[in-house]
Amino acid sequence: MAEKSFKYVIVGGGVAAGYAAREFAKQGVKPGELAVISKEAVAPYERPALSKAYLFPEGTARLPGFHVCVGSGGERLLPEWYAEKGISLILSTEIVKADLSSKTLASAAGETFKYQILIIATGSTVIKLSDFGVQGADAKNIFYLREIDDADKLVEAIKAKKNLKAVVVGGGYIGLELSAALRVNNIDATMVYPEPWCMPRLFTAGIAAFYEGYYANKGVKIIKGTVAVGFGTNENGEVTDVKLKDGRVLEADIVVVGVGGKPLATLFKGQVEEEKGGIKTDAFFKTSVPDVYAVGDVATFPLKLYGELRRVEHVDHARKSAEQAVKAIFASEQGKSVDEYDYLPFFYSRAFDLSWQFYGDNVGETVLFGDSSPTSTTHKFGSYWIKDGKVVGAFLESGQDLLCFLGNKVILLDDFYIVCREESNGLILSFWVFFPSM
Ligand SMILES: Cc1cc2nc3c(=O)[nH]c(=O)nc-3n(C[C@H](O)[C@H](O)[C@H](O)COP(=O)(O)OP(=O)(O)OC[C@H]3O[C@@H](n4cnc5c(N)ncnc54)[C@H](O)[C@@H]3O)c2cc1C
Repeated sequence: MAEKSFKYVIVGGGVAAGYAAREFAKQGVKPGELAVISKEAVAPYERPALSKAYLFPEGTARLPGFHVCVGSGGERLLPEWYAEKGISLILSTEIVKADLSSKTLASAAGETFKYQILIIATGSTVIKLSDFGVQGADAKNIFYLREIDDADKLVEAIKAKKNLKAVVVGGGYIGLELSAALRVNNIDATMVYPEPWCMPRLFTAGIAAFYEGYYANKGVKIIKGTVAVGFGTNENGEVTDVKLKDGRVLEADIVVVGVGGKPLATLFKGQVEEEKGGIKTDAFFKTSVPDVYAVGDVATFPLKLYGELRRVEHVDHARKSAEQAVKAIFASEQGKSVDEYDYLPFFYSRAFDLSWQFYGDNVGETVLFGDSSPTSTTHKFGSYWIKDGKVVGAFLESGQDLLCFLGNKVILLDDFYIVCREESNGLILSFWVFFPSM
């Protein structure tokens, strides 16, 4: 098969790839110079929609409605946009081999792609229960959610019959969003997770108590402190029940698993330096290999604010890291430089009529404020984290906007205001919290 050659190649066609393509266009990439190669059959889209409106029975989101960059209020990049800009959007093409020394990629179908500069934007993939040898984990109607094909299969199963019973394995944000979506579809949903409360990597017990109470009021059953150890199947190989470690057996027509993700870096193993499971980069998303960049979920980058290398799975970072890498590439071509990436971690989630945002780091002491009763009509509350006298993290449910200047002075949480005063020795010695609307 013919070899194709590009000045720039982005491998991966998700959020980071889409935002990178837009930045390439802004920087004046010339027709024919850039290719985006994606395993998926569709142009880059805003992945968070898959566990939200994509699954709703009403107000359903479907492509082309949520192609990037609508998630951040930008222009929607349809396949025509790439064509107009002379960007080759090479879809349904999985790269199965990467040779960074010869700057060559090979696809599953046997095509060869050469590049001068490579951006790795392969994202992450789901951790599967079959990876741990859980008995029956390959049964039909056990779903995972990462790509649009996964979401389509889940939608088909949701619509296949009435009075479904679903079990959601995992109590992270995917588990929370999916069990809400199942309930909105009037499906009997039970969540199972081993931790003492949901979303333990971020939520405090106080925050989680609100969500667990709220979900229970919406009819989601929650089973904590145990794990799924096996699945029963019928003669068609379809799941029929979930066996829990504590001996209970839950009937299930469908099971949705959200037990975490892992970065897709295997193609580059042994060729590029890795750190914390991801591909190690500098503040411009350059890897240890010249002319190779890594952005989005797959990159482990210097988080300047905390002075350490981190890998995050936040859509906001996927967008910003992609833009930073492309700006850095063009700047270096012109003998210029850009500022180092200075990321303030931001993550959000939406389920039912709830919507939360989190900025910063969830370390240190926490303070819960506002009305966090699960039966509250406003359910407007938040939490902030204080470490070494500084506010380092802020969480808000049901706010309009959350602006934070962490480690600095002011955090504006919609109509909650936290004002901190910094003393000359660098420590915040006092702060005030105002609730003007309460
Ligand atoms: C269901 C879901 C809901 C989410 N909700 C939120 C949310 O509410 N808030 C939030 O902050 N974050 C959320 N996230 C996380 C966010 O979507 C990710 O952080 C973001 O998509 C990462 O962007 P990325 O480009 O690095 O990876 P991805 O968007 O995953 O894109 C990676 C792309 O690379 C392709 N690819 C991988 N390997 C190859 C290969 N070998 N050859 C060719 N193509 C390849 C994949 O098919 C995919 O198209 C959610 C994620 C999921 C899955």
